Order: sequence, then structure tokens, then C-alpha cells
Amino acid sequence: MTIVGVLALQGDFAEHVALLRRLGAETREVRLPSDVTGIHGLVLPGGETTTISRLIDQYGLRDPILSMAREGAPLWGTCAGLIAMARKTEGRDDPVLGLMDIDIERNAYGRQVDSFETEIDVPALGEARFHAIFIRAPRIQRTGPEVEILARLEDGTAVAVRQGALLGTSFHPELTEDPRFHAYFLRTVKEREHSSRVAAG
Ligand code: GLN
Repeated sequence: MTIVGVLALQGDFAEHVALLRRLGAETREVRLPSDVTGIHGLVLPGGETTTISRLIDQYGLRDPILSMAREGAPLWGTCAGLIAMARKTEGRDDPVLGLMDIDIERNAYGRQVDSFETEIDVPALGEARFHAIFIRAPRIQRTGPEVEILARLEDGTAVAVRQGALLGTSFHPELTEDPRFHAYFLRTVKEREHSSRVAAG
């Protein structure tokens, strides 16, 4: 059975768990290093980056998460979770996890439009547009050569990115009723789990 972990230290992890369950996935809330054992993918939810980063260290989760990523397990960061995955965040000396070759500016859409919602095209999810909810969202300023852009705003800003098994969205699919992003991630987790099982014989 494929188990998808959801980092449950702070932020909107419950919404991710609910959507994944609706899709029939087995989920596990991850709070301790032992929770990482046996999961096949991990969602890093939205919340507050500084708090999440501090709790990751406090609970000893940094190394288990990094080794999961090194082994090629799929990780998906939404909003603060995306910031956590970035190699570089403006105003921070060190990255939180530093896994994805992207540069981020936090809370970058300006105070007046703190939060906004818009329809975006995500060809990987099919023809219907996706309702994207941005809440004090990070802006992806640069993407490296290995990063595939899955969706952009009309002004060209990347808002959904993928690098190998790593997925990042600066908005919150878990706050909508549209399960397509979660289904997409689940597929990645299952494909990856299948191929590592085949490789292991
Ligand atoms: N503004 C938050 C941060 O920078 C992220 C917002 C979110 O996850 N909704 O940490």
C-alpha cells in the first residue's frame, strides 16, 4: 500500500490529508522522524515558513526528509512548503531544505493584494482551468534549467513547478474542491514507488 505523508507541524495539513483521503490514498501525518519510515511521498503544507523551519529542526525531521528526497521520493510543497523546498529565499541566509533549483521572494504580491484567486491553465492536469488561491504567496523569481514550469500567471510568473520528483505550487490546491493536483502528485508517488519496487526485485 502506498502511504503519502503530510508534514503536520503547523499550517493547513488537515486539508491536504482530507483531499488525499478523498482520492483513496493512505495518508500519515508526519511529526516525528519515525513517521517518515515507510512513507512513499511527502506533502509540505502552507503555513508560516519560519515556524515550520524551526519545528523541522526541533523535531529532528531535517535529515529524514533530506534523505527521503535524496532517495528520489516525491515531495510536494505548497506555499510555505514551496519556500521550504527552494534553494534560495530572499532575506534568508540559509534555505530551509534547499532541494529545488528556484529562487523565491516571500509575500511578494504586495500588501494590497495579500491574497487573490485566479484561474490558471495547467496543461498537465487537462483542459479545464484550475482555480488557484494565493495567500500571502511566495513569488518564484528564477527557475533553474532542470525545473519544468507547469503553470504561469498571465504576466509569466511561474506558479507551479516540477523538478524530477519534486513538485511545488505557490498557491493552495488543498483549499479547493478540485482534486486534480493531489491526483497528479499521487500518480507521481505511485509511479516512483512501483519503479523502485521493480528495481529492488
Ligand atoms: N507568507 C507565508 C510565509 O512566507 C506563506 C503563506 C502560506 O503558506 N499561505 O511563510
